[in-house]
Amino acid sequence: MRFDVLSVLPGIVEGAFAGEGVVGRAVVSGLIDLRVRNLRDFTEGSYRQTDDAPYGGGAGMVMKPEPIARAIEAISAEGAEGEGKPWRVLLSPQGRRFDQGAAEALAARPWILLICGRYEGVDERIRLGFVDEEISIGDYVLSGGEIPAMAVIDAVSRLKPGVLGSGESAAQDSFSAGLLDHPHYTRPAEIGGMRVPEVLMSGDHEAIRRWRRQEAVRRTLERRKDLLERAELTEEEERLLRSSS
Ligand code: SAM
Repeated sequence: MRFDVLSVLPGIVEGAFAGEGVVGRAVVSGLIDLRVRNLRDFTEGSYRQTDDAPYGGGAGMVMKPEPIARAIEAISAEGAEGEGKPWRVLLSPQGRRFDQGAAEALAARPWILLICGRYEGVDERIRLGFVDEEISIGDYVLSGGEIPAMAVIDAVSRLKPGVLGSGESAAQDSFSAGLLDHPHYTRPAEIGGMRVPEVLMSGDHEAIRRWRRQEAVRRTLERRKDLLERAELTEEEERLLRSSS
């Protein structure tokens, strides 16, 4: 899978995936094809200007439309015969809220171009004419789209086969089956008077599976009741929920 990230500060993204962690290793091994693109390479003139004062006045600068449009067009033309064009995503606090479902939808796309804003954001005509989707990573404002782009790349990449180690799986993670993940424990068996639940040390795999599933349901009920509406539950789990509500 290929990601292109268009940014005026490419070093932020390059440094994040420089070989460490599961996604960094997938980038280094070529499993994930990550190309970080410097917006300044698509400017014209010796100032390599990427921003300008807003029409109508006021504080802050706006990202100029021409370099971004030029970059999107040039990058989109890079696809080999039959490869098509990238899915163009603008990172914006005003976009659709990113969640596991959105990550899964993006993971089905072979090529994604992530466009990072800075300052007051990008000229509105980029949003109107050059992007397929606007994504927000939450209701707060960051200084730039690079951290949101990195969050999207990480969440999407770990869904691709081979990115996680053989013992790891995204399928049991929170949100994958509509539930939060169950609690995890490792050695020692006791710390500060807190013991690991006996069932996890019993060696009874079926009992462990049932305990984990029950804890995932219980935890979701306590913390994220809204998720349960879409979760696929067994009759026993439904009963458990009814008895605790
Ligand atoms: N003036 C804009 C507004 O209030 O909607 C905020 C601009 S923000 C300071 C600069 C850039 O950071 C945005 O263009 C966007 O690319 C990125 N950004 C900031 N917060 C974000 C979020 N929650 N999700 C996605 N991108 C975000």
